[in-house]
Amino acid sequence: MGYLKNVDGYNEDIKPVRTDTTEVLVIGAGNAGMMASAAANEQGAKVTLIEKEKTINLMRVGLASVDSNAQKRAGTVIDKRELVESLASFAQHNVDERLLNTWADNSGETVNWLEDNILKPHGAHLKSEPDAMITSKAYQAFPTENDPTKDDKSFAQYGNWFLDYQKSHNIDLRFETSLVKLIKENDTVTGVIVKDLAKDEFYQINATKGVVIATGGYSANKDLLQKWDPLALKKNVYNDSPRSNGAGITSAMNIGAIKDEEPAETIFDRGLVPVGTKTEDMYYQTSTYDHWLWIGSYPFLKVNLRGERFSNESVPYQFIVNAASKEPGYLYAMIWDDNYSNYLEKIHMLGCARFGFPGYMKDKEAFIADTEQHIKDGLVVKADTIEELADKLHLPVESLKKSVEKNNQQVIAHKDDEFGKEAYRITPIEKGPFYGCILGGRILCTFDGLRINTNMEVLDENYNPIKHLYAAGNDAGGFFWGSYNDRVPGLAASHAQTFGRLAGKNVATGNHPKTTENSINDNIPVVEVDDQTDASSGASQL
Ligand SMILES: Cc1cc2nc3c(=O)[nH]c(=O)nc-3n(C[C@H](O)[C@H](O)[C@H](O)COP(=O)(O)OP(=O)(O)OC[C@H]3O[C@@H](n4cnc5c(N)ncnc54)[C@H](O)[C@@H]3O)c2cc1C
Repeated sequence: MGYLKNVDGYNEDIKPVRTDTTEVLVIGAGNAGMMASAAANEQGAKVTLIEKEKTINLMRVGLASVDSNAQKRAGTVIDKRELVESLASFAQHNVDERLLNTWADNSGETVNWLEDNILKPHGAHLKSEPDAMITSKAYQAFPTENDPTKDDKSFAQYGNWFLDYQKSHNIDLRFETSLVKLIKENDTVTGVIVKDLAKDEFYQINATKGVVIATGGYSANKDLLQKWDPLALKKNVYNDSPRSNGAGITSAMNIGAIKDEEPAETIFDRGLVPVGTKTEDMYYQTSTYDHWLWIGSYPFLKVNLRGERFSNESVPYQFIVNAASKEPGYLYAMIWDDNYSNYLEKIHMLGCARFGFPGYMKDKEAFIADTEQHIKDGLVVKADTIEELADKLHLPVESLKKSVEKNNQQVIAHKDDEFGKEAYRITPIEKGPFYGCILGGRILCTFDGLRINTNMEVLDENYNPIKHLYAAGNDAGGFFWGSYNDRVPGLAASHAQTFGRLAGKNVATGNHPKTTENSINDNIPVVEVDDQTDASSGASQL
């Protein structure tokens, strides 16, 4: 098998300056890694958690589950079988349905643990969001979201509380410590080589019970995207996970792990770009809401760079970006009028596009302020006429005028006879000033990852577990395929936390429930990875 160069440039001539020993080593202090380390500690293991940055990653607030205590309190009922089948169907069954079941069976317990151990000691709890986004029959939705909150009106950020928990439970958390290489002796993973980024030196950590990889995927790494998900580089103009450079996945593949063969990712439709931008010239790494238009996900009129409408705008947020990738230039424009803030609530968006999104877009004034800021920055343009707007957006005038006229006719007819947007979500464009902007995708994270079984053990080319190696979160594959299903709000973070918790329990105990996988020993063709990609050049800066 070809060797994927380690992201941080370890080479065999470098001698580790020392060797430390732990029982469980977790790599990456994000949504999966924080859960994994806490779970392993709970089982009595000595745990070391390494994180390459100086802080833990943002612990996400929208968390999906089935049958959590918060959902029971709110009377939220989800048919587990229907949900799992819907997820598998969304992925055209290019997933391991046993992993979907594993998530559905364990997500409630995981968010309950979070509520009991991290939120409640600080006076917070989880609130079940009952209103699934029902738009059309084509997109089945489930009320899976649980939001951490104190007052039921705004989010409670719990990252620091989680950090306190780790400290008070003697979890050895080492910042500025980066995974560069996994060590496998005979058929067992025995530890890793890490880089102390502050001291600029390498050392070894032996892990007697095992290693959990949770480094968050590879969306920051342009070379790996080019290799595994090249269309993502064209569709996206922003990467919102700049920490995730593929170190976990590449390290595991270098010792014989296999990975999903097709890409999966989640993309937001809120990436503002200056007029005239070419998508191939832009892949901006950002960890904040840089140039992020909150109303970008709203189903206002969207046209291609020729001024023509090309899709139903009222679809899962990634789909409009997918549809734009079939249009010239991959980018698209959004057009709206001065009355827009009055339609926002009735459009009934959910997840983090929700009107009244606790703590962010709490009312229409917040949306207006967000838009006005982008006007000041020159990323949203304002004009008195559609002609002037077309000119400012570099769109063909006649074509844009036609699209706007057609939109307004559909408002009157109460029917979108072109693409089937629900009538209550078609909004008029008649009251000036008019607004417009050019949008492209923002990749939030990649999901195609290492193949794992339902114990979270990483699989080798014979589909057998590599002993003492586990993965969770975006580094773990088999769960998503293609696009993200935003009609199951909070699934990405919950997948990371639930599988992190399972990985932590399993690595610590070594008692694995029997997997249902058909592990086999022979006659499986070996897939050659023949690339010598130097992954370091596109990596995010440490
Ligand atoms: C802007 C944005 C909004 C989102 N909103 C939601 C939401 O509302 N609901 C939802 O369900 N999901 C959401 N997601 C997705 C969710 O955040 C991810 O699915 C989840 O964080 C994945 O968890 P993870 O542990 O795999 O990765 P992360 O949480 O990204 O953690 C990975 C950690 O590994 C560290 N790391 C990387 N390389 C190394 C290395 N070599 N050595 C040591 N450490 C390393 C990173 O620094 C990072 O701290 C959002 C994502 C983004 C970017």
